[in-house]
Amino acid sequence: MSCLNGYFEPDYLLGLFGADVSRSLSPTIHNYVYQERKQKAIYKAFSINEEQVGPALNQLASFEFKGLNITNPYKELVIKFLDEVSEAGSKIGAVNTIKVEDNGLSGYNTDYLAVKEIISDNMQNSQYLTTVLLLGAGGAARSVLYALSKFTGFKILLGNRTESRAKKLIEEFSELFSYKGEIKYVKWTQKALGNATSQADIIIEATGLSWQEQVYPGYEKISSHHFVFDLSYPQNQGPLSKYANEQQACYLDGKNMLLIQAREADKIWFPAKDNQERKRLFQQDIF
Ligand code: NAP
Repeated sequence: MSCLNGYFEPDYLLGLFGADVSRSLSPTIHNYVYQERKQKAIYKAFSINEEQVGPALNQLASFEFKGLNITNPYKELVIKFLDEVSEAGSKIGAVNTIKVEDNGLSGYNTDYLAVKEIISDNMQNSQYLTTVLLLGAGGAARSVLYALSKFTGFKILLGNRTESRAKKLIEEFSELFSYKGEIKYVKWTQKALGNATSQADIIIEATGLSWQEQVYPGYEKISSHHFVFDLSYPQNQGPLSKYANEQQACYLDGKNMLLIQAREADKIWFPAKDNQERKRLFQQDIF
């Protein structure tokens, strides 16, 4: 690497597009990995508005970008600007990783891979039917449902504030599950969500309520047998994390998911890099 006062000419440009990425941890993760690998690559986050998304994507190749991550609220919007979308990206209807190929832009969803890995890692000894309470019916919940469809024997209770949105999602995703009735809607009330919490083994919080120091109604039923996976990762411990820890439930915030989706994006951009080394580099100590 030719360095002059810390400056180097990068071989690879990578980045992130979102509406407000000023506090994103993705540049920290990817640039840490490039530095450890002594790789001449730079990852930069860009806050852009909706009108800029299409033109910016069309210019990626001219600016010699190798790849891009997409975050809120553009994961769905970008699909129409891509030349190819993976099967998972198409079904989920959202893309968080783009690779700039010689013949165009390819889109992938690595969020679902992260959820799948986290569930799998926390399920190792379970031989029984597992009930999952999934909270939310937005883009993240779509990735979670797709990930859950890769397991057998899961019963899913889907709680969402807007009933029509949840029911539409259930209709759309039911075909991915082996038998009908595997996903059931739960009303967004204290009583219904409390009952669903009592029935569940795994609780997946995909509403982002923890970012606002809020918690879903019915959370008081969380107990020590639960695995609570919150996709949010607020800097200070949120009320869900506090309560789950008090109850001695197993609680995981979204940082691990962030790291795994980043690692899987890196695998798409740099497939020749050693996977064991990649696993070691994309780990929690980065933060
Ligand atoms: P989204 O598409 O806007 O969906 C938000 C969902 O949360 C909707 O179902 C919405 O319900 C519900 N919701 C929002 N505010 C609520 C409130 N005050 N009370 C009850 N329900 C509420 O957002 P998203 O893309 O799915 O993202 C959800 C969360 O996942 C975000 O916090 C994001 O940071 C996190 N996430 C984390 C990772 C990671 O790597 N850790 C990756 C992806 C996403 P309605 O349908 O009623 O509006």
